[in-house]
Amino acid sequence: MPIRKPDGARRSIRRKASKTNDGRGGVTSQTAAVVTPPPSRAKAASSRPSASERLARIGIRREEDLVLHLPLRYEDHTHVTPLAQVKIGETVQTEGVVVSAEIQYRPRRQLVCLIRDEERNASLVLRFFSFYPSHQKALAPAARVRVFGDVRDGYYGPEIVHPQFKVVTGETTLPDRLTPVYPTTAGLSQDLLRKVIERALVADPKRLDETLPDDVVRRRKLWKFGDAVRFLHAPPPRLSPLTQKALDARTHPAWTRLKFDELLAQQLSLKAHRKARSAKRAPVLTGTGELTAALLARVGFRLTRAQERVWREISHDLKRAMPMQRLLQGDVGSGKTVVAALAALQAIESGKQVAFMAPTEILAEQHFRKLSSWLSGVGIDIVGLSGSLPAKQRRKAQEVLASGEAPFAVGTHALFQEGVAMPKLGLAIVDEQHRFGVAQRLALRDKGLAEAHQLMMSATPIPRTLAMTFYADLDVSVLDEMPPGRAPVTTKLIGEKRRAQIVDWVGKACREGRQAYWVCPLIEESEKLELQTAVALHDELTQTFGEAIRVGLVHGRMKPDEKAATMDAFARGEIGVLVATTVIEVGVDVPNASIMVIEHAERFGLAQLHQLRGRVGRGSTESTCVLLFEEPLTETAKQRLKVIYETTDGFEIARQDLLIRGPGEFLGARQSGVPLLRFADLERDVGLIEQARDAADALLQTDPAAAERHLERWVGGRQAFIKA
Ligand code: ADP
Ligand code: MG
Repeated sequence: MPIRKPDGARRSIRRKASKTNDGRGGVTSQTAAVVTPPPSRAKAASSRPSASERLARIGIRREEDLVLHLPLRYEDHTHVTPLAQVKIGETVQTEGVVVSAEIQYRPRRQLVCLIRDEERNASLVLRFFSFYPSHQKALAPAARVRVFGDVRDGYYGPEIVHPQFKVVTGETTLPDRLTPVYPTTAGLSQDLLRKVIERALVADPKRLDETLPDDVVRRRKLWKFGDAVRFLHAPPPRLSPLTQKALDARTHPAWTRLKFDELLAQQLSLKAHRKARSAKRAPVLTGTGELTAALLARVGFRLTRAQERVWREISHDLKRAMPMQRLLQGDVGSGKTVVAALAALQAIESGKQVAFMAPTEILAEQHFRKLSSWLSGVGIDIVGLSGSLPAKQRRKAQEVLASGEAPFAVGTHALFQEGVAMPKLGLAIVDEQHRFGVAQRLALRDKGLAEAHQLMMSATPIPRTLAMTFYADLDVSVLDEMPPGRAPVTTKLIGEKRRAQIVDWVGKACREGRQAYWVCPLIEESEKLELQTAVALHDELTQTFGEAIRVGLVHGRMKPDEKAATMDAFARGEIGVLVATTVIEVGVDVPNASIMVIEHAERFGLAQLHQLRGRVGRGSTESTCVLLFEEPLTETAKQRLKVIYETTDGFEIARQDLLIRGPGEFLGARQSGVPLLRFADLERDVGLIEQARDAADALLQTDPAAAERHLERWVGGRQAFIKA
């Protein structure tokens, strides 16, 4: 029997559909049965959420929100195709009279119904894999049914699996518009959504009013809001192929209007946030210059021009009462840490406390050491908030911070989030900001840090569209110059077959006093497997290299103090080869290490490869990064390896990365559920973003009431894009 498991396929689609509330997403087909399929037995009927709870789940909290809940796609229910003209492969609405409806048990339980058009001698099978007794009852012999669905070639001829169907009696009218299919969630039927949306569209005409002044609409040749919304919810049938295509691709002027409005709301909201920030008071951190001068005398190098410029910008910000929100961008190795340390000291000179956060234990630990060594002669104690701290010491650390006595805390982001009280907090520094994503960035704002200055650091440049949108409220400083005396890193792409040669070569180099990182393959599906691989690799290299070279191992499952001890031994040169999982990915700084071997480089993302490679080339020795790869390579793996081989410029790599992956990953917010843009697309709608930005400025100038109205429609009652 040619049954291609449609039920399983359909289930997975439904699951997806229930998660998809962003208005695009992967819902390709979704049948809206008139009779809802049975719920899973496990669910007790009593714990069912109400319709309004379900609506809230897809972001609809007010009636007005229904107006902006736009279809994913459309179905054409405006005409009935005679049964005899139904063609395999098409999506149709047709009608017939039920001949039979029986439950079959082979190969699995299913309801099979045959409908016919006697006059023209045509028939169609309707097949249901999940059904209620009510289905069978409705499909009684001689009943006339109207069905809708995809026709395929079944065992008995044309058939539709899980059609939408309706019993028709007497004269019926057909809709004169396309039927919208909305993003929805489990337990919220299309019928219900259509009904409540239709009602919301007519109930209060004000909901379709223009928020924008006439001239804005006319000058930008935008559709009127009301026209656009009405069109998108109920487009006329038989559109020209071109119009239909534009509608599906969301390039139709009606869509453009909605996207423009959405982006405009975002821009207005960002500007509102900025304004709110300027009204806030952060401590004025004038400093005395004493500690910063002492630090500069101790680091053993001169700041690059870029570092000096950036340091001036930050220092200037700190002296103002408006809370700083500055992003310090600089490629891997450009020297962001010292700039952060200078900022910290200016705050401390002004009698305030500083929190320095890093995304990983290793990095936090390393910052702690580096800063401690720089500051030991300066007379500033740093409190390290590490996960490895015994409970007693941790409490002690929290105490000295809470009393305001200790000025400087360094630790992981997680530790700070657990709630470390710093009553005199003047500056919060977040390292490797890109690792946190938009969600955390916004969360941080709510953490009582709003009154402190904030310095965020990132090695990953923010793509232009993101800079104009989600990061538009930040000031940005760029370190566009590397410290002098760096030997360039040579990148080698080596096929797995020649791995033995690399092992030999690394052994030889390390016996001559060089040091190497050896990064294990990334195994996303299984941390356990990754760990096993790391241990196996460590054993292998220990055996191969024998007495002469000590091989160390770091991985994510180690206790923080074990990790730190190993990193230390590596930094002191006692370990020659350090086998590591990706825990070393960000920020680790051991200048003597000059070899980086990455196994199965084809599995890593571009940003990761760039970060990993950035671990070498920090000293004056000529450095090498060996990318071992296994064939066959996928097309994107090939692209990535090509990019990493051809360029060492972090900005260019980020640009390419964005081209390959799209901005969603960068935002790191896909999984976290932050309300991002529902309609506009950061890649395709760059032009609109620019227009919206300009329009936002103009609107705030000329018609603040309109701006207010617009924000209310798009953001009111919903979580703000950006909270002030
Ligand atoms: P990143 O920007 O990747 O965080 P780091 O702050 O870790 O870079 O700096 C990389 C290395 O360069 C460190 O060892 C740091 O001490 C050193 N460094 C920073 N600034 C300079 C400079 N102006 N001259 C020489 N070395 C520097
Ligand atoms: Mg760093």
